[in-house]
Amino acid sequence: MSGGAHPGDRGGGASGGGFDLDGLLRGVRDPKAARAIAARVHELAARLERPVTLMEVCGTHTHAIASAGLRALLPASVRLVSGPGCPVCVTPIGWVDRALALAARPEITIATFGDLMRVPSSRGTLEQARAAGADVRICYSTRDALAIAREEPGRQVVFLAVGFETTAPTIAAALEEAEADGLANFLILPGHKTIPEALEALVVSGELRIDGLICPGHVSVVIGSEAYRRLPEVRGVPCAVAGFAPNDVLAGVADLVGQIAAGTPTISNRYPRVVRPEGNPAARALLARWFEPADADWRGLGVIPGSGLALRAAFAHRDAGRIPVELPAAKEPAGCRCGEVLRGVIDPPDCPLFAAGCDPEHAIGACMVSSEGACAAWFRHERLAAKS
Ligand code: SF4
Repeated sequence: MSGGAHPGDRGGGASGGGFDLDGLLRGVRDPKAARAIAARVHELAARLERPVTLMEVCGTHTHAIASAGLRALLPASVRLVSGPGCPVCVTPIGWVDRALALAARPEITIATFGDLMRVPSSRGTLEQARAAGADVRICYSTRDALAIAREEPGRQVVFLAVGFETTAPTIAAALEEAEADGLANFLILPGHKTIPEALEALVVSGELRIDGLICPGHVSVVIGSEAYRRLPEVRGVPCAVAGFAPNDVLAGVADLVGQIAAGTPTISNRYPRVVRPEGNPAARALLARWFEPADADWRGLGVIPGSGLALRAAFAHRDAGRIPVELPAAKEPAGCRCGEVLRGVIDPPDCPLFAAGCDPEHAIGACMVSSEGACAAWFRHERLAAKS
């Protein structure tokens, strides 16, 4: 599929007037193409009546922007802020408290991706719980967790299911396999969240004026570019689906600035190599079979209606969230401003603890712990620029 017209790309972008953005995107890492796209952003930005704020809604975008130094290529009137796109970062402290409470039960083995190990809860981290004797094992895929359940039928294996629409289908596939194989000892702690509802809640809150959204490529592979349709059509906020190479992100920025300047908010798809308007129907069907929309609590954003994925009632026997545990009163790390970072209200260097007590080796909040977190991205790539 070309990057040209299809239902998810209805004009209002940065192409046109002899400027071939699709052609430039054939070299997604080509510095010459990057300079040409950046020049196009400057040209379009000159037509703006005021400075604009664009939010990138994916931790991988945040790291691409920081590591490639894209901020420096943009005009001063175009500001990029990070949003709630790091799954570990938006997982609320109460959910991590529950994971730790489950880990404390002698019959339970916690299976988790490594990035959750150091996320603080009200009572320490999973890493600390493991050091104190809890059975917490790092997995590289859901298959590893299924293998534990198969090999150790006497253990109750609880997989910590955190993520967005990107990873949720793999969880559903693992549940399907467990069901087919009669693996009664494989459960999940549901923590998945869905992106479009969170974006609309952020826009509606009005705390930060968001002029455009760089929508996540991986999530969009599953849900499709049309999933964001309410944002331009009901909320008047332009959207651009972008891939993760530097020029993909720049192209998304160019499209958004073009849409704002023209006053024609729509959805452009600058990742047509893998994103279709309708997404991946098979993955969506798998998700719908196992999960239903539910209200979900996001760190920093609070409870957003319909923004989570709950196991359907027919699969309650796979839901470790139903195991009774005692939970402490949820307590965020003192002084940590992850909530404001996740809402785009502050940049990480605005937190007084940034590089002054909080760094990737001694992380205080989730946004510094996770490799996808905005604080970690700024610390690794933009710390010096932030100080100058
Ligand atoms: Fe939290 Fe550290 Fe980020 Fe501050 S720098 S918001 S303490 S993670």
